[in-house]
Amino acid sequence: MFAGRELPGLIGSGVMLLGCGVVDYRGGGGVVSKCVVCGYSSDGVVLRCPRCWGLVTLGYEGLRWRVNEKEASIWRYSSLLPEFGRRVSLGEGLTPVRRVGTIYVKLETTNPTGSYADRASSVLASYIASVGTSKVLIRYAEDFTYSLATYLRGLVDVQVSLPKPAEVDPLEVLSLAELGVAITFEGGESLVYENSLTVEGLKTIAYEIVERSVPVERVVVPVETGLLAFALVKGLREVREAGIDINYEVVGAVVEGGESNTLLSWIPEVRVERVDLEEVIESMVLLAKRGIKAKLLSAAAVAVASRLGSNLAVITAGYGRRRLRRLCTKSKVGREVLRTLKKLNEATAYEIWSELGGRFSLRGVYKSLATLEEQGLVSYRYIVKGGRKVKLYKALDR
Ligand SMILES: [Zn+2]
Repeated sequence: MFAGRELPGLIGSGVMLLGCGVVDYRGGGGVVSKCVVCGYSSDGVVLRCPRCWGLVTLGYEGLRWRVNEKEASIWRYSSLLPEFGRRVSLGEGLTPVRRVGTIYVKLETTNPTGSYADRASSVLASYIASVGTSKVLIRYAEDFTYSLATYLRGLVDVQVSLPKPAEVDPLEVLSLAELGVAITFEGGESLVYENSLTVEGLKTIAYEIVERSVPVERVVVPVETGLLAFALVKGLREVREAGIDINYEVVGAVVEGGESNTLLSWIPEVRVERVDLEEVIESMVLLAKRGIKAKLLSAAAVAVASRLGSNLAVITAGYGRRRLRRLCTKSKVGREVLRTLKKLNEATAYEIWSELGGRFSLRGVYKSLATLEEQGLVSYRYIVKGGRKVKLYKALDR
C-alpha cells in the first residue's frame, strides 16, 4: 500500500531522528503509536511504522472532551492532541460552515494557506520545532507541501523532493520557490503526507463539527489517499470515547476511476459514494457562482452531499491561493513597524499603529505587516478577544 521506502526525513543536527521511523522525543505523557497494518506499537510519537512502513495512529490515555474557547486555532482541542514543547500555529482551524442550497459546506479554504493541510502543518511544525532539527526534506503532495513549508519558514531549512515531476502542479512549485524552498528530484528520505501527525491535525475538523453541533447526519469528504476520511473517523471515535453522544456518518466521495491505492480498506466505517466527472464539474461551477472556487476533489464531496439530504461537505482546498508579493525589505515603514513590534513583543496592527503615533497610515502598517510576514520576519497567532478573532503579531528573531 505504501509504495517505496520513503523515510520520514528529518535531517537532525545532533539528533538522529526518524532514521527508522521511531522518535526518541515523547510528546506529552500517555501517547502510544500503533501501526494499523502490522500492529507494531511503541510509546511516544512515531510518524510511520519502522517495521512495515504502514500508517501509524496515536492513542491517548483517558481522553477528555475539553475545549479551550479562548484559543482561536485547532489547539483549542489540545487535550485531544499530542503535547509539544513548542507550538507553531498561524490560526488554522475554526473554519466557517455555510449553507449552500440543501447542504452545509465547511470552508477549509479560509485556513492560512488556503487548505485543510494547515491543520496537519501546525501539528507537524510544532513537532519539528520541538525536536530541534535543522533541515527537513518533504515529499511533494499537492497543498500539503506548500502549507508545511509555510509553517516551517524561519524555523528550519526546507527541501522538497519531486520524485514524480509529472504529477506536480507547476504553479505550486513556483510558490514553493518563492518561499525559499530548495527543490530536488531525488526520492530518498522524506517526510510524507501520510503520517500519524497529519491524522492528528486533520481530525480536528471532526471536533469542530461536534463543537458546533452542525445539524446533519453525514459528513462528506473527498477521497484521494483516504487519509482525511481516516482522520475524521478517528476524531469522531475519540469524541465518543470521551463520553460525547454523537452520531455522524463519514462518507467518502470518490471520483469515478480515481479510487486506486487508498486507505479506504482500513476504514470500514466509511461509506463510499462514487461520482462521475460530469457531475463534479457541474458542482464546481455551481459553487463558483456562489463565490466558492473549490478544487475538483472538493466539488466531488459537494456533488455527493447534494445527492443525499442532511449533509455537510468539507471543501478541502480551492483555487486562487494568496500569491506572494514582491518583497521589499528596505521600506521605512517596514523597519519602523518591526522595531516597534520588537519593543511591544506581541501586538495587533492597531496597537503598532498607535505606538507609532500616527506617523504612518493604519493601512500602511497593515501592508508592511503583510510584507514582513511573507519575508518570514513576523509571525502571528489569533486570539479570541471580546468574542472576536484578533490577529496578534510577533517579530521573529532572525
Ligand atoms: Zn507496521
